[in-house]
Amino acid sequence: LIQLYLPLNFLGIVYRELRQALTDIERMFGLLNEHREIADAPDARSLPAGQAMTIDFIGVDFAYEANRQILHAVTFSVPAGSTVAVVGHSGAGKSTLARLLFRFYDVTGGSIRINGNDLRQLTQHSLRSAIGIVPQDTVLFNDSILYNIRYGRTDASDDEVIAAARAASLHDFVSRLPEGYATRVGERGLKLSGGEKQRVAIARALLKNPPILIFDEASSALDSATEKAIQAQLELAARGRTTLVIAHRLSTIMNADRILVMDGGCIVESGTHTELVAKNGKYANMWLLQQRESAI
Ligand code: ATP
Repeated sequence: LIQLYLPLNFLGIVYRELRQALTDIERMFGLLNEHREIADAPDARSLPAGQAMTIDFIGVDFAYEANRQILHAVTFSVPAGSTVAVVGHSGAGKSTLARLLFRFYDVTGGSIRINGNDLRQLTQHSLRSAIGIVPQDTVLFNDSILYNIRYGRTDASDDEVIAAARAASLHDFVSRLPEGYATRVGERGLKLSGGEKQRVAIARALLKNPPILIFDEASSALDSATEKAIQAQLELAARGRTTLVIAHRLSTIMNADRILVMDGGCIVESGTHTELVAKNGKYANMWLLQQRESAI
């Protein structure tokens, strides 16, 4: 019986991991139950690993459904190692940019390129290996904290997991728990706060060490100390990577190399925080509003 049990048990673990990996990413993109038709081109190439990556959106049009265009001629670059943040009202198309970069859908016009390679000519495996995601709402396994962080790179040693936890400012919190890294989290274990979960996601991303990072900032209200902490962690995680931040709070992206303001699927303004404030346009308005709200 044991001979039968072991392989079945192994298959169970593989199945659980695969399902969880999909759930994590699909949750981030709100894609559960959606039909997808993306397949590798017959002559798809691998994106060479281990190098800095520049992202280019070139005249990108996109529609989820015929007759309702969501993105209109979106053009921008994220030079290798820099951080670009996207802001705009709900429904402006911010998350759609991230979904297209991960190639959950193909563009309907224009192209997206990484180091000059059109995403449609790359294998999905090599593309997705190059991208780390810190989602708004991280899905945790009903397992130990150690396991949950190691999920970023399953062959990482305990020391590497702990180093990632330290870098994500999670280590002190975990060390104070009676069972430390063995503490179970998730459904039947310790419930983590939104900020703690996001730090688990950052630790996972640091462990995976991808050249491209997508950071989807949680939209829920945070106290200003947590906000500052997340800003510091984001900057740390983004160091040396090409980073796209979907931002809900302007204060966390003030130091981004470039900020894109989206409205109705178009980029309507772009520049640094200082340039955009001086411009007195949409961004300056949003900034003023957030300043007022945080003063209340
Ligand atoms: P938020 O800040 O609320 O997350 P967002 O700027 O990220 O908003 P997107 O999620 O990119 O906005 O959505 C842009 C538009 O695309 C919205 O009008 C939305 O209704 C539409 N949309 C998003 N996902 C789908 C989908 N799967 N099918 C059809 N339309 C969609």
